[in-house]
Amino acid sequence: MSLTVVGSIAFDSVRTPFGERDRMLGGSAVHFALAASFFTDVGVVGPVGDDFGEAELELLRERGVETRDIERVEGGETFFWRGHYEHDLNVAHTDDTRLNVFGDFEPKLSDASKAADVVFLGNIQPELQRGVRAQCNGAGLVALDSMNLWIETARDSLVAAISEVDCLLLNDAELRMLTEEPNLARAARAVMELGPRIVVAKRGEYGAALFTPDGFFAIPGFLLEDVRDPTGAGDSFAGGFLGYLDGAGARDGDDRELRRAMAYGSVLASFNVEDFGTERVSRLTRDEIEDRLAEFKRLTHFEE
Ligand code: AMP
Repeated sequence: MSLTVVGSIAFDSVRTPFGERDRMLGGSAVHFALAASFFTDVGVVGPVGDDFGEAELELLRERGVETRDIERVEGGETFFWRGHYEHDLNVAHTDDTRLNVFGDFEPKLSDASKAADVVFLGNIQPELQRGVRAQCNGAGLVALDSMNLWIETARDSLVAAISEVDCLLLNDAELRMLTEEPNLARAARAVMELGPRIVVAKRGEYGAALFTPDGFFAIPGFLLEDVRDPTGAGDSFAGGFLGYLDGAGARDGDDRELRRAMAYGSVLASFNVEDFGTERVSRLTRDEIEDRLAEFKRLTHFEE
């Protein structure tokens, strides 16, 4: 049981109606890895610059995340994202994206990362996702996430990357944008025609919907009264979802296990949004996860 993730390793400057942070640790791979680390062994692949310190690496290592394949680029700068949210926290507004060291990164995976059972191609340039995917041939489950920027600027590469994976996780608006299908059921079917057998439409605070060849399942978000920063919620969802599947040895995508994984995804995302960046998930415990899962099942009458 092991999971490899590639995606952004970032400094994020974020403003929400509830506060702001400058250059906090973030990135799709970071949020994903922290969430998945509660369930399985996770290794992160990706570059950082000279500005990425030991403290940031330590935060990952404290959660048991393997950082061997995080490559430090001499003289380089770490990926940077600036964004803000208005009162509708479901919509992220990007103000600046600087790929920096990701601009000419060529992933070279260690043998341990190549041998992963589950692979998550987190949000980053689609050609990079493909480069990692090509090196992980033995994986039983490969999933991919992306965003509007790549749909707009690298559509052909993204479609090629999607056709090479088992599972696509995307915001519902991005699923519609990718497939040019206003109807979500048709959009999911259009994605399945490209290759993936599992499609997850993320719906922010409203939860997520799962499409498989045999069925459809939707789960709400865990209802919170205090949400401070939604950045990384999607990646935390993916980390809970895939981390659970890998930890449970459920890589063949049995529908019952997928439903359980959706519940863990919702729970991890709900913790992530309670505070800025990685602040909440980095001090989370497995007991808190199980307690919230039990509460979530009780409130939603969720039966597995
Ligand atoms: P989400 O889970 O969708 O909220 O993703 C949030 C993370 O995505 C932030 O921590 C950003 O660093 C990262 N991010 C934003 N834009 C991009 C991009 N174009 N490529 C890769 N990562 C990004």
